[in-house]
Amino acid sequence: VEAPVSHPRKASLDLRHRLTDGLEGGVVAPAGLIAFGRGEAFDYLLGERTCFQAAEAERAAAALLLAAERPVLSVNGNVAAICPREAVELASATGSKLEVNLFYRSPGREVKVRDALLAAGAKAVYGVGVKGKTIPGLESERGRADEAILEADVVLVMLEDGDRTEKLKGMGKKVIAVDLNPLSRTARKADITIVDNVVRALPNMIKDAKELKKLGKEKLKAMVAAFDNERNLREMEEIIRSGFKP
Ligand code: ATP
Ligand code: MG
Repeated sequence: VEAPVSHPRKASLDLRHRLTDGLEGGVVAPAGLIAFGRGEAFDYLLGERTCFQAAEAERAAAALLLAAERPVLSVNGNVAAICPREAVELASATGSKLEVNLFYRSPGREVKVRDALLAAGAKAVYGVGVKGKTIPGLESERGRADEAILEADVVLVMLEDGDRTEKLKGMGKKVIAVDLNPLSRTARKADITIVDNVVRALPNMIKDAKELKKLGKEKLKAMVAAFDNERNLREMEEIIRSGFKP
């Protein structure tokens, strides 16, 4: 489905349609629509644009992925439905592995999310059909993960649940989160929190990664160290509270 070109909210409607198409195709879970709606509300309050602070977080995150030894991008149904190409491109620009991560895991949906990434150009997708291995502290279905994520030193999560973020941190990993809600547990627990819509955050990070690639790991690490996530989150919250006027 496509909204008419003249519609003032065309971009937003097209995005919703990608999600409902994803629901029909079995890539998106019903609860994924609710999570997306919560994100939209925050996006509205932020003026549906990348704030300066978010751009800074995106750049620091790109640097962290490039500096990592074993970076992983963790992809759920919503991301596979709304921006699979961007996820694949960021993985290749940063040398990251792609992993399927579903809150409501079912063998059928796992495969559909993987196929969406393969169709978008991914060479390999991890986390499908994994038996036995789990993230400590999470019940089996949600905790299922294969070597890619268990061995990762840096994990990028998008639209993620706070629980899993906390457990990944507990395993000693650095976590980057893309989450429009600066108050969510995920946003508060992550090492770098990008308060931006994932459809804007990923293209920005791809551009950043391509630019930063030429820097050595020491310079990249220094960029990450100079980034203050607490301050960034506080400022993002302040932007929302002070009231953006459309
Ligand atoms: P937490 O468990 O971390 O406290 P939550 O319970 O508020 O989070 P969940 O439903 O677990 O939320 O996860 C969905 C999160 O993803 C929400 O915080 C929502 O704002 C965010 N989100 C939804 N759509 C997008 C999007 N397109 N881009 C970025 N973030 C999004
Ligand atoms: Mg939650």
